[in-house]
Amino acid sequence: MKPKKSIIPVFIPHLGCPCRCVFCNQDSITSVKCSENGKSMPTPDEVAGIIERGVEVSGKGAEVAFYGGSFTAISMSLQRAYLEVAHKYVSDNLLSGIRVSTRPDAIDGDILSELRRFGVSTIELGAQSMEDKVLLLSRRGHTAADTVRASRLIRDMNFSLILQMMVGLPGETPDSPMYTAGQIADLQPEGVRIYPTAILKETELEEMWRRGEYSPLELSEAVNICTDLIVFFEERDIAVLRVGLNPSEDLDSEVLAGVYHPAFGDLCRSELVFRTTRRMLSDALDNEHGAHGRTAVFCVADSQRSLFVGQHRSNIRRLIEVFQLEGICICNKHRISATNYSVHKHNTNKVITTKSKVNIRDIINREQSLATNTENPADEQVCVELLGIF
Ligand code: SF4
Repeated sequence: MKPKKSIIPVFIPHLGCPCRCVFCNQDSITSVKCSENGKSMPTPDEVAGIIERGVEVSGKGAEVAFYGGSFTAISMSLQRAYLEVAHKYVSDNLLSGIRVSTRPDAIDGDILSELRRFGVSTIELGAQSMEDKVLLLSRRGHTAADTVRASRLIRDMNFSLILQMMVGLPGETPDSPMYTAGQIADLQPEGVRIYPTAILKETELEEMWRRGEYSPLELSEAVNICTDLIVFFEERDIAVLRVGLNPSEDLDSEVLAGVYHPAFGDLCRSELVFRTTRRMLSDALDNEHGAHGRTAVFCVADSQRSLFVGQHRSNIRRLIEVFQLEGICICNKHRISATNYSVHKHNTNKVITTKSKVNIRDIINREQSLATNTENPADEQVCVELLGIF
């Protein structure tokens, strides 16, 4: 997997948008208030200031990204003014590229040639859904065919393509997310962003919800759907760049209902680790009658530990319940000592001691032999390993 590039975001909320999508309130999402006719949208000089501060923090090599509006639908003179500023930093080797986010119906060959001239490298398209019925109910103002046409053009002209999709839009059925994901994968983007729908204040979706015309997904439903989508895209080598809205204090107070959690992406990644772990235990037990009163011992990479445990220990509780375990013991093969073993029982989370029912010596011996038998014992690729059920 390619390392993630640092992004210096420049927010231009709703600039260029020909209509207001029912779910969207970029003033809330970006915590910036401006409009094309207003006085507060960033001036080219302010964009330069944002980039300079961003370079100071991220160092050379980041990309600047114009987010929050429909970049290619704003007036050409303003596009050029912004791009001229950004391009100067690319020419000076302070930035590695420029990305813009926009709508599928605001892309054509001439627009792309202009973006190319200023060194734009990546285009993020808001596809949101590949079902026309859903797009219509969401008042997107474009069709799925527009997304197909724009995506092909972007790829043909050798830009990097990122597609954004939403989950839980009005008019969706249970099959909708995977249908949209399949259509998006066929367009071969380099990456995707997945956003479950939240009901923001002062949106048409708020009105629809208050009138009883729209019901949002539950958080747990959205986690399951988005986890399936992560698996789907990553199996096809399409990077999942983001799952869930970027959290902010302002956004916390702007969300009325629907799916919003400040660590939504982690909830999905944690669900993914749970599914893997469940499969490991299931295979080890040969799908028999659970592991009554026994303790499953896992070796977990540090980077995966909190995902393994889950929010409020939800994964631990579920595994104990499903397999009727006495507890789950977690260790890290790089730090082999009794104090590094934490055992999670029904309602406790305590460090294991030699007095514990689990034979710590057995586990350590087993783990040491695994570590010495492995060519690269520090290999973090092995995120979760089942050492045994004792
Ligand atoms: S979703 Fe995109 S196109 Fe729709 S209103 Fe928001 S910024 Fe504009």
